[in-house]
Amino acid sequence: MSELLILGASVITMDPQRRIITDGAVYVRDGLIQAVGRANDLRASHPGIDVLGDSTTIVHPGLVNAHLHLTVDRLLRSAIPDDLPPGDSIFQWAVPAHAHVTPEDDEISALLAALDAQRNGVTTVLDAGTVAHTAAVAVALGTLGMRGFVGTWGWDADGVPFGGSPAEVLERQLEVVTRWSSHDRTALVRGAVTMVGHDLVSDDLLAAGVAMAADHGTVCTFHISPHGRDAESYLERTGVRPLVHFERIGALGRQVVLGHAVHLDDAELEAVLRTETAVASCPLAYLRLGQGFAPANRHTELWRRGGRLALGTDSENAGDSLDLLRVAATFAGLAKDVPMDPTAFGAHDVLELVTIGGAEVLGIADLVGSIEVGKRADLVVHRTDQPSWQPVSPDPVLPLVWSAQGTTTHHVVTDGRVVVRDGRSTLVDEIELFQRATTAGRALAERAGLPIGAKWPLV
Ligand SMILES: [Zn+2]
Repeated sequence: MSELLILGASVITMDPQRRIITDGAVYVRDGLIQAVGRANDLRASHPGIDVLGDSTTIVHPGLVNAHLHLTVDRLLRSAIPDDLPPGDSIFQWAVPAHAHVTPEDDEISALLAALDAQRNGVTTVLDAGTVAHTAAVAVALGTLGMRGFVGTWGWDADGVPFGGSPAEVLERQLEVVTRWSSHDRTALVRGAVTMVGHDLVSDDLLAAGVAMAADHGTVCTFHISPHGRDAESYLERTGVRPLVHFERIGALGRQVVLGHAVHLDDAELEAVLRTETAVASCPLAYLRLGQGFAPANRHTELWRRGGRLALGTDSENAGDSLDLLRVAATFAGLAKDVPMDPTAFGAHDVLELVTIGGAEVLGIADLVGSIEVGKRADLVVHRTDQPSWQPVSPDPVLPLVWSAQGTTTHHVVTDGRVVVRDGRSTLVDEIELFQRATTAGRALAERAGLPIGAKWPLV
């Protein structure tokens, strides 16, 4: 029997009443939250067990990142320039790197990306599809004790690397969702159906992938419309915009998580709402890539109308932050700024999106996403003896989102296991991992012939 007591000046539960327990504690046994209450009471009833946190710390549920890429370009982090023309970061950088990636590269990259996410309070991830070596990513998540969905790159456009006929691609997807126990909902690592999306997947393949996810009790995720070019392509081929087309071919629904869906018209927004399709929004990536998120996005409107929305970090240009609370602040800021309405959205709303909302989008809100008795113990403890938390606010949600963000994450618990303690991984040698990632990244860039360098002269 493993037991753990987690203490906090505030325990932000995200339960249905959104209670914040002051001088609170969470008692965890065998991976499950067994009690939530006052620190004094739970200390007295559970003496002598491992304790995390104290009377000054802040506790919240583990965060859910609903769209990121754990592999390949993460090894080239911040080596890809941030002022490339549209598409170049993918086709001139990421795709050549994909062609040269080894299983060890994918494992190191996934370890580094997942550790980065974990150190910022993320306990659950939906990987948007590993191009080459899905098993290496599953190993990495297992090593770090992280909850996550893994997948394999699914596309059937002509001449794409790691592509194939619809039947071949579906066979690979089926292998993933059967090998990583998509039906075992409490398994830490589960399989998802992951299509590339955009205009690179045939209708038959997309519809079959969505059906496969439903059959296997998991999600299907794919990219669409982070920019306006996908809509142009579908209009030309089908006469309608992509999400209208997807609804017609049965490729939307509750098991679908659309990566992006930023550039939507009215009919597409209605299709998303009608089919209860979820959207994973990655605002920081859009801003850096200059994709028109501020003027185009309908995500706040989707949320206000009861749509299913989560946040993600993406990684398209390799430099994106994995601090999901920083992404959350960006999303909340834009949701206020674009309509010039400070009452439109706020820190409390966005904290829902990265906790219980994200869990709901991934179909696991009965397991994680809030601190409630009976749920799996995914918890984050922040230390507040830091300037970003001082003086102590009467409402801990405000400094968490707008000031501290992930930077003060001190302990992280996933499934009852302490995976980060005192700001360091308990499961990997971080310094050794950083060295391996640096070596692997340089070697990968060389094999792929990528022109890495700095914009300003290095003297
Ligand atoms: Zn993506």
